[in-house]
Amino acid sequence: MPVASFDIYCRMLDRAREGRFAYPAINVTSLTTANAVLKGLAESGSDGIIQISTGGAAFASGTAVKDMPLGAISIAEHVHRVAERYPIYVALHTDHCPADKLETFVLPLVAETERRRAAGLPNLFNSHMFDGSALPLAENLEIAAKLLERFKASELILEIEAGVVGGEEDGIKAEANAKLYTTPEDTLEVARRLNSIGARYLLAATFGNVHGVYKPGAVKLRPSVLKECQDAVVAQYGEATRFHLVFHGGSGSELHEIHEALDYGVVKMNIDTDTQYAFTRPIAAHMFSHYDGVLKVDGEVGDKKAYDPRTYLALAEAGMAERVKRAVTELRGTGTTLFRG
Ligand SMILES: [Zn+2]
Repeated sequence: MPVASFDIYCRMLDRAREGRFAYPAINVTSLTTANAVLKGLAESGSDGIIQISTGGAAFASGTAVKDMPLGAISIAEHVHRVAERYPIYVALHTDHCPADKLETFVLPLVAETERRRAAGLPNLFNSHMFDGSALPLAENLEIAAKLLERFKASELILEIEAGVVGGEEDGIKAEANAKLYTTPEDTLEVARRLNSIGARYLLAATFGNVHGVYKPGAVKLRPSVLKECQDAVVAQYGEATRFHLVFHGGSGSELHEIHEALDYGVVKMNIDTDTQYAFTRPIAAHMFSHYDGVLKVDGEVGDKKAYDPRTYLALAEAGMAERVKRAVTELRGTGTTLFRG
């Protein structure tokens, strides 16, 4: 199916919150990783989200070019074309963009969508994240409000973050003393500041979640923080203001923690580290078990079939697709696609 329209994306998010399931939002950096996500989603009968980080976008444009908007547009255009061949909906999103990169990443992509809409074409992306979590909340929401006004005109959904996701992802590292748990007061302020704009947004509220992977027990997740935040906003502003929440740093989380977060309104769970590993693992196996084919050992000529990148990249695609399927299962999303032949 085509990339989800704004209406379909809104329905996806609403149905997930009502049904207490969520969409995996998987970071991709290449055509092959994007294809892996589509394959995994299709085999699960689940809609989902493909997302691109600033670093992933720069990489996708080529190491000699390193142009973030160009790389993001390239992957998005590929997904728009090939998604037609899969029986699910996918939404396109950009991941963490700090304030100092808005001008060079998100805003050029918004301008691209505005150009397309003016020409009668569909949006390039469905949503973009602005990560103002390193700023004081008032400043974070000041920027978010301006973005949301502009996004509203183009049916783009904004994702914001209140509180700080720990750990490190794509070179963005949280401070050691960062605020890892969002408070109900923070989220009330988010609703007070943004809801009057009348546009859709997603909220990444933090509850001890971290980027990267940690050994079991190393992370103290408190999903109840999400419930406290939802209860506060519903009490103050009514049921219609219940948030659509995003779970960052989903890799390495335990199933009961994931399920509890879904019960409290998480509709999107970001996964990067685990799908990176799932992509690389079969490549490692291939290289180790065919070392005398991928290398020219002792004057031999190697084995062209073994070192043809398609051979191991197809294995990598399959490995990553399997991890996407596992994510869909854990997020209770199997068979939930809105697409009906
Ligand atoms: Zn994140």
